[in-house]
Amino acid sequence: MATPTAPTARRLVTEIPGPRSLDAQRRRLDTVAKGVGSVLPVFVESASPGLLHDVDGNTLIDLGSGIAVTSVGAAAPAVVSAVQEQASRFTHTCFMVTPYEGYVRVCEELAELTPGTHAKRSALFNSGAEAVENAVKIARHATGRQAVVVFDHAYHGRTNLTMALTAKNMPYKHRFGPFAPEVYRVPMSYPLRDPQGLTGQQAAARAIDMIDKQVGADNLACVLIEPIQGEGGFVVPAPGFLPEIARWCAERGVLLVADEIQTGFCRTGTWFACGHEGVVPDLITTAKGIAGGLPLAAVTGRAEIMDAVHGGGLGGTYGGNPIACAAALATIEVMREQDLCAKAAEIERIALARLRDLAGRFPVIGEVRGRGAMIAAELVRPGTTEPDADLTARIAKACHARGVVVLTAGTYGNVLRLLPPLVIPHAVLTEGLDVLAAAFTEVVR
Ligand SMILES: *Cc1c(COP(=O)(O)O)cnc(C)c1O
Repeated sequence: MATPTAPTARRLVTEIPGPRSLDAQRRRLDTVAKGVGSVLPVFVESASPGLLHDVDGNTLIDLGSGIAVTSVGAAAPAVVSAVQEQASRFTHTCFMVTPYEGYVRVCEELAELTPGTHAKRSALFNSGAEAVENAVKIARHATGRQAVVVFDHAYHGRTNLTMALTAKNMPYKHRFGPFAPEVYRVPMSYPLRDPQGLTGQQAAARAIDMIDKQVGADNLACVLIEPIQGEGGFVVPAPGFLPEIARWCAERGVLLVADEIQTGFCRTGTWFACGHEGVVPDLITTAKGIAGGLPLAAVTGRAEIMDAVHGGGLGGTYGGNPIACAAALATIEVMREQDLCAKAAEIERIALARLRDLAGRFPVIGEVRGRGAMIAAELVRPGTTEPDADLTARIAKACHARGVVVLTAGTYGNVLRLLPPLVIPHAVLTEGLDVLAAAFTEVVR
């Protein structure tokens, strides 16, 4: 946790990165594999709501939450003490050897919080990719079918099966093949890049026609979709797209798997993004925001589907680790008590208004979109939809130099995305957005 005297606002006392960070970065390059990158090689010492304190005494504004993870903050007192308390009792038994109640309580919370009032079961894992892999295992086992449909711009992870499910070649897939078979990709609803006026229903019909003709419902175990795409560029499908895909899946006995690893746990202003259009998936994968930064992931789904798998068919040594479960229970309590869904909606109002104002002044912003605390600006050559990845990178860099952590995303690398912790103080968020505006003024000529 940050020391009691830690600054409560952005404070730069060196260049970014500072000399100590540069030194650590040099050592890192001698020991850490180059394939593991960092957006901003500033070495962090502690955190407080919306702020990261580095080894040089700088305080940075965090508009990334470690990629949508630290929604309750990176040092939430309730999470810290739950972790300490659990660690002092026991760190691990393996739930598959001798179980413990924390795991069960997390599954009870998942049953209550995820969409739908049907009977549910959950299984816990360590990472988002592992949850997605298991959702596919379960869907195949329960349906006796093999094919999996995913969408353009999708991101589902970096393991072998999830690389196959992920759309983008660089950096995720390049020269890492061969990839798992029986994965089929269809067009997403992407309002900025679809033909003008294509409705959600029409975009769904386009995808469904392709599935019908190229895969066939009888061969299809599941349709896997992010309700709002994350790494793909915060692509929000046109209204009606998700419900129509869900309706077709239900009609054809195909399982709908919602990957809510990035959108879940209050991030978009509701507990889960499917809730915005009343869609109830058969299976849902969660991770990232679930446990305040501890590694935890889950598959939650209809009891009869989940329980179709034979005993011993699912699991892993660390899945549902007791410390991670304790952190999740504390995180969920903070989300309830501080009404972080409402906080996400408030962040949406503030950030969307600021970005729309910027879009009015800078025609390089082709579209501003997003929900809750998942807000993006897509940068293009003015008057076109031609992506401008170079400009996007330069604006992100200008923010970093001014001590604001922002991330980029998108198939074309041209999306600036904001994922602030939901507990970010109003003044910190506002200053972060001021810095973003200043970066546009400086970089765009
Ligand atoms: C991050 C992410 C994953 C992969 O999660 P990891 O914990 O990095 O394996 C899968 N799906 C979505 C939508 C994600 O955002």
